[in-house]
Amino acid sequence: MAKQLSFFETVLAFFDKAAAHTRHPKGLLEQIKECNSVYSFKFPLRHANGQIETISAYRVEHSHHKMPTKGGIRYSDMVNEDEVKALAALMTYKCAAVSVPLGGAKGGVQVEPRNYSEHQLEKITRRYTAELIKKNFIGPGIDVPAPDYGTGPREMAWIADTYSAIVEDQIDSLAAVTGKPISQGGIMGRTEATGRGLYYAVEAAMSYADDMKKLKLTTGVDGKTVAVQGFGNVGYYAAYFHREAGGTIVAISEHDGTIVNPKGLDPVKVKEWQKEHGTITTFPGAKKKPSNAVIEVECDILLPCALESTITADNVKNVKAKIVGEGANGPLTMDADEHLIKKGVLVVPDMYANAGGVTVSYFEWLKNLNHVRFGRMSKRFEEASNMRLLASVEKLVGRSMTMDEKKLIARGADEIDFVNSGLEDTMYEAYDAIRSVWKKRKKVDDLRTAAFVMVIDKIAVSYADLGIFP
Ligand code: GLU
Repeated sequence: MAKQLSFFETVLAFFDKAAAHTRHPKGLLEQIKECNSVYSFKFPLRHANGQIETISAYRVEHSHHKMPTKGGIRYSDMVNEDEVKALAALMTYKCAAVSVPLGGAKGGVQVEPRNYSEHQLEKITRRYTAELIKKNFIGPGIDVPAPDYGTGPREMAWIADTYSAIVEDQIDSLAAVTGKPISQGGIMGRTEATGRGLYYAVEAAMSYADDMKKLKLTTGVDGKTVAVQGFGNVGYYAAYFHREAGGTIVAISEHDGTIVNPKGLDPVKVKEWQKEHGTITTFPGAKKKPSNAVIEVECDILLPCALESTITADNVKNVKAKIVGEGANGPLTMDADEHLIKKGVLVVPDMYANAGGVTVSYFEWLKNLNHVRFGRMSKRFEEASNMRLLASVEKLVGRSMTMDEKKLIARGADEIDFVNSGLEDTMYEAYDAIRSVWKKRKKVDDLRTAAFVMVIDKIAVSYADLGIFP
């Protein structure tokens, strides 16, 4: 039996597969592939009973070809160095895929959040931040963390506060971390950004009639059936936006089970149920199945939004979907990916499909550095000029609109409008760029390889600009 690759080895193998389609020198490819800085550290946590627990933590900066580096922090008892390295590498490729001019990084703390009190999590987060500061692994121009599995705006607020408390005279200290609550310098639309971005990614892929014809599907999410693996932030919002676009959510899974209803599940109601009952599995009217059964459900679109390596050589044969949109990082092992490619399934790869989060994080970072909300300078001006334009149109056509009608049309763009349109544009542009590599290179037969070829070329050019190559 072939050796099971680790997560980082899987990322390297995907990289090598694509690198074979480029002409860059071996040494340069090695430089791009490797993790530049790996910081592995431990710190103590004292429990109420006086016992001391040693916490393992990591921050990996994969590539400094653009600065600062960027990537989330994961809290899970599964966190290990190999996983953080893989995730950091994926961040580099993700940023390059959607033209976010940052390097890739990732952090991880080996704790299962549900086993710790809020107070303990705050202590862990503040200590983790202090350790990063000591080693110069955090800062608006150095390395900018964000949320990931097991963390959210609350943890980001603690990081921002610790950073500004320790590092003095930093006018830009809020830009040291993204995914913060709005009240702490966050940006509208960040929370839903990854799920929304995944929806745009699938919609972009489904906008090509030729590609859909091969899958025996019509264009667009509207009228399609969707199964969602993982109902955290990414899975929830992905389900929400696919449903809003006319998709039917036929299955949702969590760590303790899958719920199936061919007539459709409303993610808002399922989330409310989960909050109240602590599980989705008892949701009324749905059939309960084991957690991993979600990938076998009859559907057009499968959205793995949980963790890495959930679809493997063992279970990939049961996948019925024609499109797989990777909301999670690394949900397919290499074997599983190859099986789906051979079967003709369209896999929209993680490095592109889930890049909505970092895209909006980038907008947040820009907002913090600018010290001004998007739209603040232009909103009223836009409104006034639109009003003048409408007045001229009224004169020309000889009919006047009501003030309410005019206000609706003339409304100037606010922060959330800029964020959502910037995200939408980013996702559609990136898809077209990746697809054109896929279509132009005869030997590239899948979107992941095409995306890797595109980002390797982009990063290689950055090294050339740095004077390192040739
Ligand atoms: N953790 C997210 C990801 O994997 C977001 C990273 C960020 O916003 O910097 O893409």
